[in-house]
Amino acid sequence: AKHEGKAQYHFFAPSLDQAERARIRLERDLRDAIKGVGFELNFQPLYSLEKRRLTGFEALIRWNHPVRGPISPLEFIPLAEESGLIIPIGEWVLREACHQASTWPADVSVAVNVSPKQFTATGIANTVLSALSASGLPAHRLELEITESIFTADVDQTLATLHSLRTLGVKIVLDDFGTGYSSLSYLRSFPFDKVKIDKSFVEDLGTSGNGHAVIRAITMLAAALGMETLAEGVEDVTQFEVLEREGCQNIQGYLFSRPVAADAVTGLLRDGAGY
Ligand code: C2E
Ligand code: CA
Ligand code: CA
Ligand code: CA
Repeated sequence: AKHEGKAQYHFFAPSLDQAERARIRLERDLRDAIKGVGFELNFQPLYSLEKRRLTGFEALIRWNHPVRGPISPLEFIPLAEESGLIIPIGEWVLREACHQASTWPADVSVAVNVSPKQFTATGIANTVLSALSASGLPAHRLELEITESIFTADVDQTLATLHSLRTLGVKIVLDDFGTGYSSLSYLRSFPFDKVKIDKSFVEDLGTSGNGHAVIRAITMLAAALGMETLAEGVEDVTQFEVLEREGCQNIQGYLFSRPVAADAVTGLLRDGAGY
């Protein structure tokens, strides 16, 4: 009966089956990449508008597939999440980011994306601690970017994990703020160090009349709660000016710099980091 079911499936949905095969192939290649460390980190500068200087970098994973060439993390991170491969990948990212940052000639921070599966896996605090001590990077220079989807798991457990990470001395950043559907309650439940305004809101600044009001509301709310804001995806001067006027403290985007390879970081730091 099992065999019959399978045959039927083939008959009705051949394209689905092909997609499934492509997925399995990509998953196998991901495993190979983990073994041979086929990944790389790029670093995108984060700027403080108040201090008028570069204050840190976000680490962004890059995968140069042996056959297909560069594959976007938007394609392979979700697959890594589903398959559980995000655990070893995320651990590599954390270790590599801490190691790289420990070699930088300035006291700037490194922000690392922590995916929901990685966050809820047992021992995330130990993984972070181990990456810090292996690299010698002081905890205050590490920022962990998490998204509000971590709150769909057990909320008490999530808060306990956030507090244990905070105890290590690392900073906790709420990424992609505003894209979930009940962001406000999460802001109330944990004192994040920083809130990242999703680039979809920044994009709106040029076009609709409401984008402006949304930015104002987020910065006011964050300020009232004692959290900093960072706007991502800033591409033009108009967006930049609105963000500055509305009191957003930090920005990140192509207007200032695209993500760069690890060996270009020192140059950016040496250029005075003023902008
Ligand atoms: P994210 O965390 O929201 O990262 C910001 C994304 O916006 C990055 O894309 C960055 O290159 C891009 N970006 C920065 N400035 C601009 C801009 O001015 N305009 C536009 N259009 N885009 C801009 P990227 O590197 O392709 O990463 C995409 C997503 O993949 C990330 O979104 C994050 O969710 C995930 N990701 C990337 N690296 C990692 C990682 O090491 N671990 C995990 N778990 N996820 C990662
Ligand atoms: Ca991020
Ligand atoms: Ca983001
Ligand atoms: Ca985003």
